[in-house]
Amino acid sequence: MRVGTHLRPLSCLLTVLGLLGATSCARARTPAEDDRRQLHGTSQAESERMVAITVDDLPWFGRLAPGDTPPEANRRLLDAFSQRGIQASGFVVCNDADSQRDLLDAWLARGMDLGNHTSHHLDLHSASLSAWIDDVETCHHYLARLMGHPPRYFRYPMLHQGDYHDKRSAAAVALQRLDYTVAHVTVDNSEWLLADAYGRAVEKADVQTSERIARAYVSHLLAGIDHFDAVGRAQLGRLPPHVLLIHANALAADHIGEVLDEVRARGFRFVPLAEVLADPMFGLADTYEGAKGLSWLYRISPDAFSRWGAWDESEANRIRATFLGGQE
Ligand SMILES: [Zn+2]
Repeated sequence: MRVGTHLRPLSCLLTVLGLLGATSCARARTPAEDDRRQLHGTSQAESERMVAITVDDLPWFGRLAPGDTPPEANRRLLDAFSQRGIQASGFVVCNDADSQRDLLDAWLARGMDLGNHTSHHLDLHSASLSAWIDDVETCHHYLARLMGHPPRYFRYPMLHQGDYHDKRSAAAVALQRLDYTVAHVTVDNSEWLLADAYGRAVEKADVQTSERIARAYVSHLLAGIDHFDAVGRAQLGRLPPHVLLIHANALAADHIGEVLDEVRARGFRFVPLAEVLADPMFGLADTYEGAKGLSWLYRISPDAFSRWGAWDESEANRIRATFLGGQE
């Protein structure tokens, strides 16, 4: 809700009377506050929350239950999106993608978007810059042929954007030359660790373990949204729109629908990636210098990860200890 006048709305009175939630009651703002809000965007606390769903490592990644197949699991994943009216963005690792071309065709047939995730999932931090750019360009040409137009979005493998300034800048220039928009993530998470454990469980038909992991998956992703809401409030002074990162794996095929229903029940609307990336926060400077792959909400403030990143590390450690025998 936008409150542009100096009068309090009826909803505020109802809140005071305990008839509505606290977020519906807003103190009238001064003109100076309104100016600041132009810079920082409209608070999502006062409007519908937005979230874009992005899926990395297409066409497919990881183990499946006996008798299951990537085309069948991919169909379940796409059903979960289509049934909820979601236009997801999938990021393709192009090398050998043609051997599973039917999966990518299914994404396009459902009206989903595909973006570049390099040809070999090449890590910018370990590859030479020229090899990395070649890998980006090869995937670019493959996807342009597949889709009939150039892909618009690029997702860095491991969210590694360059571990020192010159490499980071040169990679960004190469992406701009290809007219890419970087598909930043806000809700980074350890779903890929849970998916590894889940793949091992379903492969052995261990129903009890796979169900425990499925419950952990739902709660972990919801906790991720809560965490990055808190980071957004601290960094921006408002609740941010989100880009959720998951991967094309059996855990998502079997259980992303439960996550999406919970997310929607929290008041989020599913939107295409472009709508979230239009938020002014993605125009802020990337201030992070280092080797970690991070949420955009950490990258826009030099000390954000040191202040908030304990959540990411403790969740990953907890998942490893609970479901992967503590392995790194
Ligand atoms: Zn990836």
